[in-house]
Amino acid sequence: MATVKEVISGAAQLNYNTFKDNGYRFFKPLLDVCMAYEGSGDQEDEDTVFVAVIIPPGTDKTALIMTTRRAHDRKSLEIQNIETLLSSKHSISDVSVIYSHPKDIHAILHDANSKKGKGEKSEADETHSAALQDLENIVTEAVVTGTSDIHFYVYEDRAEAVFRIDGLFSQSTPLGREQAISIIAAGLNTKSPDYRSVTDDNEMADVSIYMNIEVPDPKGGQKPKREKINLRTSKSGSLEGPHTVMRVIRTSQEAKKTISDLGMDGDIRSMLIRSTEAPTGIILLTGPTGSGKSTTLAALYETIDDERKILLLEDPVEYRIKRKNTVQKPVFPEIKGQGFIDHLKNALRQDPDIIGISEMRSKEVVEIVIKSALTGHLMVSTLHTNDAIGGISRLIDEGVSPKVLAERNLFRCIVAQRLIPALCPKCRVKKSVEGFTNSYVRSEHGCKHCGGTGTKGRVLIAELIMFDDKCREHIANHDLSALEKHLLDNGWKGMAARARMRIEQGVIDPYEAVKHVTNLFAEETAVKYPSVEFVNNGLEPA
Ligand SMILES: [Zn+2]
Repeated sequence: MATVKEVISGAAQLNYNTFKDNGYRFFKPLLDVCMAYEGSGDQEDEDTVFVAVIIPPGTDKTALIMTTRRAHDRKSLEIQNIETLLSSKHSISDVSVIYSHPKDIHAILHDANSKKGKGEKSEADETHSAALQDLENIVTEAVVTGTSDIHFYVYEDRAEAVFRIDGLFSQSTPLGREQAISIIAAGLNTKSPDYRSVTDDNEMADVSIYMNIEVPDPKGGQKPKREKINLRTSKSGSLEGPHTVMRVIRTSQEAKKTISDLGMDGDIRSMLIRSTEAPTGIILLTGPTGSGKSTTLAALYETIDDERKILLLEDPVEYRIKRKNTVQKPVFPEIKGQGFIDHLKNALRQDPDIIGISEMRSKEVVEIVIKSALTGHLMVSTLHTNDAIGGISRLIDEGVSPKVLAERNLFRCIVAQRLIPALCPKCRVKKSVEGFTNSYVRSEHGCKHCGGTGTKGRVLIAELIMFDDKCREHIANHDLSALEKHLLDNGWKGMAARARMRIEQGVIDPYEAVKHVTNLFAEETAVKYPSVEFVNNGLEPA
């Protein structure tokens, strides 16, 4: 029987999107056979054998039998029959078996079945492929410019795509309204010819697709390289039309930054690394989207001793971790049975020392993570909160009792971080800003060195809390202001204090920093209201 090939460029499974985007095609002569094996198509149906025979791009001599793990284990005879059929009747003997989810196989089979008998490409198909080309172009541009998100604004008569690079909105590309809508539809994997679902409804949608794009060498010397991109499109209705953001994730990117390249303050870096040496407990990283949490985690995992097994559950996988003894599993929350909770339960049985969960998105996940951290695993995860102490309030909101959070062996540390655009050292402008003895701001027109933006790269500003008995006492009493006071009394420096230092060094612009870090200016903590002046407006007192 064919060997199981674990799979297409490293991902754990071949899914419908990968199939579509990478130019695979269904092997039509076996359509009827595959349809017959689908039985009722129900996952629970004993007789169902989900199986599709597909041909990888650029060959006609190799076939892949796509099936579920369950069918491969229990219905091996049926799969063997297909294999025999392929070699005896169709002279394809290079056959491998790859696993997929029943939903994906079902979709591929039914696409093939609906195309049966249709000779010419329909008009809708052609519009769709033009839209895909436009989408590919815009995503390529995003990759080349280092864009993390593309924001689409669709107005009554026109549209534009705005690129967010290094946290700042920089270039804007004008688009036709229809063109933008069809690009959005392609990102949402919508094939309806009039894209009504994109324009007419206010329904929100989040769709993740994979694309294989050709990335030109920025210096122009090398040949373009094909790269797999995960595109996450999120759409909601607005007054004028759909408001859409596409996040561009370069999944095959190796973590390029080591922990020392992150620009983290040295004391935080060493406390963070030391936290990973513990056998159990939890390391929590907090910060908003785009604050560089995944980059920090990827660099952190690389510092951990090779002998310890790390299992990572990620949605999406943003970096390939190169260290040995690491298993990275993509999680598909939208697919039943492939969510964080399913993978987490499974992961606990696979004897890891460290489990990383890209984000704790539900009460149920939080509960298992805390329990596992207390019973023999080192857990690493992230939360969207404003600061490190906010991580504790968030867990309490998620239903964890303050008493549990105060357990001695629970928290290794909580980190909060931000990425703030760094001033271009060649064109920054010295400007006195109240509250600072030395400060620079961004030059309005920039210079050649920074491409006219006034900024160059980003600076990481972080804060880290480790807990002593007194901290735990305050947590148990759910008194987080007392916790903060205790930390400050003991010389702890939070993000605001560290950002102020960077401002004094002329590394960041105070007016930019205040958008990312709260309590940066003294007056934010002590508001002085102007005295009230009563105006005689001519009215007689009642
Ligand atoms: Zn400059």
